[in-house]
Amino acid sequence: MSNIQALDKTYVANTYARFPVELVSGKGSLLTGADGRQYIDLGSGIAVNGFGAADDVWLKAVTDQLGKIPHTSNLYYTEPCAKLAEMLCARTGMKKVFFGNSGAEANECAIKVARKYSAEKKGPGCYTIVTLKNSFHGRTLATLSATGQDHYHELYQPLVPGFEHIAPGDAEALAAIDAKTPVAGVMIECVQGEGGVVPLEAGFAQALADYAREHDIPLIVDEVQTGNGRSGALYAYMNFGIKPDIVSTAKGLGGGLPIGACLLGEKVKDVLGPGDHGSTFGGNPAVCAGAISILSRIDEALLKGVRERSQYIFDQLTGAPGVERVSGMGLMIGVKTVKPAREVVAKCIENGVLCLTAKDRVRLLPALNIPMDLLEKAVQVLKEACVSHLGTGSC
Ligand SMILES: *Cc1c(COP(=O)(O)O)cnc(C)c1O
Repeated sequence: MSNIQALDKTYVANTYARFPVELVSGKGSLLTGADGRQYIDLGSGIAVNGFGAADDVWLKAVTDQLGKIPHTSNLYYTEPCAKLAEMLCARTGMKKVFFGNSGAEANECAIKVARKYSAEKKGPGCYTIVTLKNSFHGRTLATLSATGQDHYHELYQPLVPGFEHIAPGDAEALAAIDAKTPVAGVMIECVQGEGGVVPLEAGFAQALADYAREHDIPLIVDEVQTGNGRSGALYAYMNFGIKPDIVSTAKGLGGGLPIGACLLGEKVKDVLGPGDHGSTFGGNPAVCAGAISILSRIDEALLKGVRERSQYIFDQLTGAPGVERVSGMGLMIGVKTVKPAREVVAKCIENGVLCLTAKDRVRLLPALNIPMDLLEKAVQVLKEACVSHLGTGSC
């Protein structure tokens, strides 16, 4: 084990099962390890580096802004923050944006807005947020409570009260909960990412959206992972023909720097007032300047490329030896392999390809613009890893 890996194991809190790779540099979809090895990156820092590592346009936008003024606090106005909010609204039809620094914070804001809206409209007993089983919404206590996977909850009781989880596909369960305790918000991922890259059935998403609209319940779509081009549309809800009242997003929006955004639609745009919510770093000008450079390049041509790359991966992997099932949408793909996913990923690393896992699946989240020749090479390595036997000594 290298010095750095040993140092990290000693001093960094032991919350991550890291792969045995130390990365020192990267450009686009090619990353370089401390030992000089090159890797083709199919993970993008978990759907963050949408245009790959150290993308030139993003880098210039960020460094230019760093040289002007990198941080101001939210006591003052800055151009990148205002312009990014305008762009997000123009592209989605939403009306206002709250900026934080992570997906969990974007979801915290969404939950607070839904609760305040519903408490004011329907009374203080209306606070229950309904989310889906197998969902993932973050790791703060409220977003952990929203997350519909028991194993994340076990040692953190008591959780934040007022969260109920229904099974994907069971739209009637929402009405049943609402009949007992009035529902303040419904929160869904259109494709459950951490849950194994599982898209919702369109009819189910539609049924939830219809119920929410008819009963004046804010519909929150968590686009932290699915958003910003990842699904082949700008936001995944656009593939489902539903119209959320609140959209939370993060990961890919920042292009490599921390950002979270909570987009507020017509219904809830005026719910938050001064003092209701805040974040010291939220809307940071350098981060927002980078995000503008990302968002402005997620156009129809890029999205078409995402869908074509997606089709290529589905075609290559569906029915391939050692592959049981391929799921997902756009460049957010889960691969159920015969071998344990972790072993397949370890084999890929041995052969110079970085991919991720989600539950029992191998998860692919390549850069939206990954060059086809790199993608072809990497998919070949993955296909071989699905059938080959593991060498010794890997993780
Ligand atoms: C990653 C993720 C989050 C949490 O984002 P952080 O930036 O890690 O706080 C929330 N929701 C979904 C769907 C995610 O994929």
